[in-house]
Amino acid sequence: MEKPTDTSKRKVSVLIPCYNEQESIPALHSRLQAVMDSMPRYEWEVISVNDGSSDGTLMMLKQLHARDKRWRYIDLSRNYGKETAMLAGMDLATGDCMIIMDGDLQHPPEEFPKMLSLWESGYDDVYGRRLHRGKEPWLRRKLSLLYYRLLQRTTRIPVLQNTGDFRLLDRICIDALTSMRETQRYTKGLYCQIGFRKHEFEFEQEDRSAGQSKWSMIKLLGLAMDGITSYTTAPLRISTAIGSLVSAIAFIYMAWVFIKAAIYGDPQAGFPSLMIVMLFLGGVQLLSLGILGEYVGRIFNETKDRPAYFIREVDGDRPQQNKYTKDK
Ligand code: UDP
Ligand code: MG
Repeated sequence: MEKPTDTSKRKVSVLIPCYNEQESIPALHSRLQAVMDSMPRYEWEVISVNDGSSDGTLMMLKQLHARDKRWRYIDLSRNYGKETAMLAGMDLATGDCMIIMDGDLQHPPEEFPKMLSLWESGYDDVYGRRLHRGKEPWLRRKLSLLYYRLLQRTTRIPVLQNTGDFRLLDRICIDALTSMRETQRYTKGLYCQIGFRKHEFEFEQEDRSAGQSKWSMIKLLGLAMDGITSYTTAPLRISTAIGSLVSAIAFIYMAWVFIKAAIYGDPQAGFPSLMIVMLFLGGVQLLSLGILGEYVGRIFNETKDRPAYFIREVDGDRPQQNKYTKDK
């Protein structure tokens, strides 16, 4: 099966994070293989990252590797989440460019020729925009749209809506992304952060070929929080603004209470107003503390300076501890 490697060919890496995708892998294999075989002018490498799956995903990836050495795999030591799995794949990719796609075939490999020709014409970051968001719970869709709008309002860097991780990245973008070693990653933000020449193409997102979406509402909320706290410090500023406004009002009220008491004496105990002010101020303070805490938590996590992931096995070999985890 293996073809002789031709050094004059440009190499394309295909990165596929896989978490419990055993039902999707056979279809993924046949469709991707067909696309790869239809473009022999490139040298191909598929890097599937097994993100701590508990089903037969790893076994199937090993079989693919045994049959065709172009199908490489990385076995992570546990489930780290898609963002980190992608980082691991980017660290190990050797291609001149890389195409990232989901393992559930929501990103059709048949789009590769279009993406590659855009890359050949000089774009560094060719990303897919979903024409339709596919089947999705109503609330989730609404929340997601609201979230993007909020994020865009608070930052100078453009936030791209309806673009997922289906994209082609030139080597220069991969190197830029892997140079950013934060462990609570929000890759969608990082793509925008790095800049470079971007080009959009539209694609029809298919429904999940098999299995279920691995994102629970809680996980999505966590990702949304990481997105905000890694993208923008606006919440801190907002809490400062609210804090100043509230203290200004409180100060005026204080002066008024003082003057009133000085002129007319203090005939009443004023318990309700006291409670209202206290509770309101307390609420605002707790909110600001919470926001502050989110950022301090991030600082705490990043200062531990731990490697983002550990690898159990790459293409059948056990890595020397951390050999594959890039130095900063
Ligand atoms: N994924 C992963 N680790 C996780 C969750 C998901 O590597 O902890 C992979 C998953 O196998 C798939 C991709 O990320 O290839 C997108 O996941 P999914 O289809 O569940 O998300 P959705 O399409 O609903 O956004
Ligand atoms: Mg999916």
